[in-house]
This record gives sequence, C-alpha cells and structure tokens, in this order.
Amino acid sequence: MIMGAGVAGTVAGIALKQAGYDPVVYEAYDASAGLAHGVYLTVAVNGLDALRAVDAHHPVLAAGFPTNSIDFFSGTGRRLGAIPLGPVLSDGTTTNTIRRADLYGGLYDEAVRRGVPIEHGKRMTSARELPGGGVRVEFADGTHAEGDLLVGADGIHSATRTAIDPAAPGPRYTGLGNVGGFAQVDDVAALGARYAMIWGKRCFFGYTVSPDGEVWWFANPPSRAERPRTELGAMTDAQVRAELAELLSVDRGPATRIVAGTPHELRITNQYDLPTVPRWHSRSMVVIGDAAHAVSPASGQGASLAAEDAVTLAHCLREVPGVPAALEEYERRRRARVERVVAWGASMSSAKQAGPVARAVRDMVLPLVFRRSGSPEAMARMSWLFDHHVAPVPVG
Ligand SMILES: Cc1cc2nc3c(=O)[nH]c(=O)nc-3n(C[C@H](O)[C@H](O)[C@H](O)COP(=O)(O)OP(=O)(O)OC[C@H]3O[C@@H](n4cnc5c(N)ncnc54)[C@H](O)[C@@H]3O)c2cc1C
Repeated sequence: MIMGAGVAGTVAGIALKQAGYDPVVYEAYDASAGLAHGVYLTVAVNGLDALRAVDAHHPVLAAGFPTNSIDFFSGTGRRLGAIPLGPVLSDGTTTNTIRRADLYGGLYDEAVRRGVPIEHGKRMTSARELPGGGVRVEFADGTHAEGDLLVGADGIHSATRTAIDPAAPGPRYTGLGNVGGFAQVDDVAALGARYAMIWGKRCFFGYTVSPDGEVWWFANPPSRAERPRTELGAMTDAQVRAELAELLSVDRGPATRIVAGTPHELRITNQYDLPTVPRWHSRSMVVIGDAAHAVSPASGQGASLAAEDAVTLAHCLREVPGVPAALEEYERRRRARVERVVAWGASMSSAKQAGPVARAVRDMVLPLVFRRSGSPEAMARMSWLFDHHVAPVPVG
C-alpha cells in the first residue's frame, strides 16, 4: 500500500511493480495534489538517473527543457558569478526544468500505463501493524485497506510518519515564502539553458526562459515569523502583486516587469524543510520522499531525492529477505545522503535572507566563491550530489 500519488508515490508504484510486487497507490485528493499546486521544478541529473532505473525518465525529458547552470546577480545588477546545475551525462542529458503538472501528470500516466492501480479520495487517517504481520490503514471516507507493507509517500505533512512515531518532528519553516508563475514579457532576453537569480535587497528572485519564450519565475518574500496559512490563503491577487512590487522595485533587473507580465493568479506559500526524522520505519511501515526528509526548495533536489528513495526501496525489498530487514537496509543506504542534501539546502535558504551588512559581505565574497565553483575541482566536490547512481530495477 503506497500512500500518496506525488513523485515518491508514483515512482514507488512503478518500481515495486517492476520488481514483481502488486502495489496499490492511495491518494487523498481527486487528482494528485501536484497537478493543482505549485508552478515548476528542476529534476537534477541524479533524479533523472533514478527515473532511468525504471525507464520512467522519458516524460521529464519530453516535457521539460535543459537548464544546466545559474547566473547570479546582486540587486544593483552586478553579475556575481555562475554555478553549474550538475554535470552533463555521457548521453548529453542535463538537469531539466519542467512544469509541476507535467512532471506529476507524466509519472502518474506512466504508473497507470504499467498497471499500477491508483485509488483517489483515499485520505489515510491512521495505520497500525497487525499482530500476524502486515498493516491495516483507515481512510477518512470510512473504508480501510490491508497489505504486507505501508509505504508513506504522503508528503511533508505525512500521516504515515506519525503512525510510525507519534513523537516524530514536523516541518521546519525556512524563513521564506514562495510565489511563482509563467509570464509573457517581450523584452526579457532568452537565457539559453540558464537561470538568472538576483540576490535582491529585500527579496530573492529567479527566472529562466523556456524554449518557446515564456518566462518561468519565482520569488522568495522573506518573513522572520511563519505567516499563518489562513492569512496567506486570504490574500488577494492584487495584495500579492502589491507586496512583490514593494519588495522587488528597489532592485535592478526585469523582476517587476516579469511579475506584471504574469496573467494568472499569484499565491504565496510558506517554505519548509524537514531535517531529521529519527524513525523512518517500523516493522512494516516506511516513509519515503518529503514524508521522510523534505529538502528546502532552494536545493532543487526534492523531487530527485524522492525518485532515488522510491527506486532504492524496490532494490532493497528485492535483495534483502524479509520486510523488516529490507527497510533497515533502505535506511542504511539513504539516510546519510539525504540529510547531507537537507543541510546543504538549508544553507542556500539562509543565504537568501541577509541583512544590509551581510549583503555587502556576500556581494564581495560571492564572486570569489563562484569563480572557484565553476572549476573542475569544485565540480568534483559536488559529485557526491549529482553523480549518485541507482542501478536498473530488475524485472520481477
Ligand atoms: C515552492 C516549491 C518549489 C520546489 N522546487 C523544487 C525543485 O525545483 N526541484 C525539486 O526537485 N524539488 C522542488 N521542490 C520540492 C518537491 O516538490 C518535493 O520535494 C517533491 O515533490 C516531493 O514529492 P513527494 O512525492 O514526496 O511529496 P508530494 O509531492 O507532496 O506528494 C504527496 C502526495 O501524498 C498525498 N497525501 C498527503 N497526505 C495523504 C494521506 N493522508 N493519505 C493519502 N494521500 C496523502 C498528497 O495529496 C500528494 O499527492 C519544491 C517544493 C516547493 C514547495
């Protein structure tokens, strides 16, 4: 039983099916939440490698476009430097940027095409292990299900995480909000396969230009205190735009024109991460993806790690006899890596919230850092992140 039809859930469905099991995916919403929320994301080369292990990388490569580096600017318009978004794989594949709806929809369709059943309107409310083995879950609609294994792919507010450990920590607010969109702006130059990111005086802003000329952007309005979800939900489109205009108008660059050229409604959400979850599994329940370790969106790695988790879990279940021992092995293979990525993502997030003094230091130091980060030595230092490889899942 897999809870959640996001990236982790659909890829786990595909991987477990390929490994010879009979997974069923249960999703709380009528359609996957990913189809309704969010704008776009990057799938890094390590995420594409994991999807390739189950031959599910095609939807990303077909609907996405290559984005292989980021150019950074200060709010005054000074170019601070560039960093690569991972290496180019031997077949020419690079990190891709893709609409969230296309990523989730593509993986969802692939799971269905491979015969993975996905049941909607099934919000898990509780789960308990059965004395004779296996797990029973209860759904909000009054129904229940039983299976040998519960895979919690139910996102950052995971109910599976709490079923495994009622004292499990919840998400941590990163000090930033997030808002983004797709804009038509005539005078923004094409960037090739690059992002431009501006460390503005009041707000971090990033964008890229798709091959058909649409500007894909995001902004991170900072707020020391977490803004209540009800407050953010009640903001009108006009209020969001007014807030962004106030934050972005003090910087040079196209940010305010890009926001003004966005035809659809804008919504601010809080950004969270989830650094250390002490218990990832019990005897027959396990969490994967954001349910186990949400990385800050600043890392651009959440979807990629979710795919790595899902495929690694299938390997462990195939290779290690007995579910409890397989879950042990899954944690052994994954924990150190994902916690290193979470820590790296958190450091990127905090750098976005600098005050005036820290900003001045940052703008002086960053060019030196970036000059070094494009070097072969710097690329080699990041190989732990991007060169991670998962072997193809054997067909069971
Ligand atoms: C603004 C923003 C930008 C981001 N940018 C990037 C990026 O550029 N690159 C990147 O790799 N990552 C990015 N991420 C992170 C990425 O979106 C997540 O890490 C990734 O989607 C995790 O997938 P998941 O399947 O674990 O969780 P989710 O995508 O959250 O899926 C969980 C699913 O479980 C369902 N569910 C929840 N509770 C229950 C329940 N009780 N019962 C049944 N079903 C349930 C939900 O409806 C949902 O469909 C970003 C995140 C945000 C918020």
